Amino acid sequence: MLIDSHAHLHMPHFETDRDAVIERARHAGVTAILTLGVDEASSQRAVELAQHYEGVFAAVGIHPHEAKDATPEAYKVLIGLARECQRNRIIAWGEIGLDYHYDHSAHDVQQREFRRQIRIARELDLPVCIHSREADDDVIAILDEEMAIDVGVVMHCFSGDKQMARRCLDMGFYISFAGPVTFSNARQLPSIVPLVPNNRLLIETDSPYLSPHPWRGREHRNEPARVAVIAARLAEIKGISVEAVGQAATDNFHTLFPRARRYS
Ligand SMILES: [Zn+2]
Ligand SMILES: [Zn+2]
Repeated sequence: MLIDSHAHLHMPHFETDRDAVIERARHAGVTAILTLGVDEASSQRAVELAQHYEGVFAAVGIHPHEAKDATPEAYKVLIGLARECQRNRIIAWGEIGLDYHYDHSAHDVQQREFRRQIRIARELDLPVCIHSREADDDVIAILDEEMAIDVGVVMHCFSGDKQMARRCLDMGFYISFAGPVTFSNARQLPSIVPLVPNNRLLIETDSPYLSPHPWRGREHRNEPARVAVIAARLAEIKGISVEAVGQAATDNFHTLFPRARRYS
């Protein structure tokens, strides 16, 4: 039993064989996939996919890369979708956060839109999916100041250090691991896995990005079925069974995103 708690099924990478990709995920034991928008158009697409495929749920939001394009009109559309969350199978707001690595939008713009979206999520009572890249201090400060914990928080594709992991856990956040934990040159991540208790753990692929080992480099496009590889790596590090990892991540998914069960 597995859940891919973070994927982007709207991407053109899946345009020709999306049915087969989702079928392969089911065969691999993936019972649910959360597909996330990164702007207005992809959020709308995430909703359409969640309505179309059983076991797929949607999140809507504006990614820090797109923060400079966050317009009042875009927010109006996203909030409109989220107000009808049952019909639209929306269980979360995201992905949102800060990315100082690529710097596609100015830091102050990213921060403003990040804060704005935490407030919206609180108003709509939707948990938030957080992207943090080379911006951990500011992400933590903003999540804290905006009291994001009230709606529930997952740090997706965790890439911080031990101190960051401890801060996130102290603040009550979930930590989600993706493909990089399987990379042979992953130095820090494997040492962070044991710090994360089973009741705070999520797993994800971030498809179509971040193909896990041994596909990394060989076949670039990642897909939700490979969440099994991430579960296996976490099980290996923690010294527990893959089933135990899958069960824990599934339980946590439903605790953080209670709507998923209601909309099933
Ligand atoms: Zn991300
Ligand atoms: Zn993502």
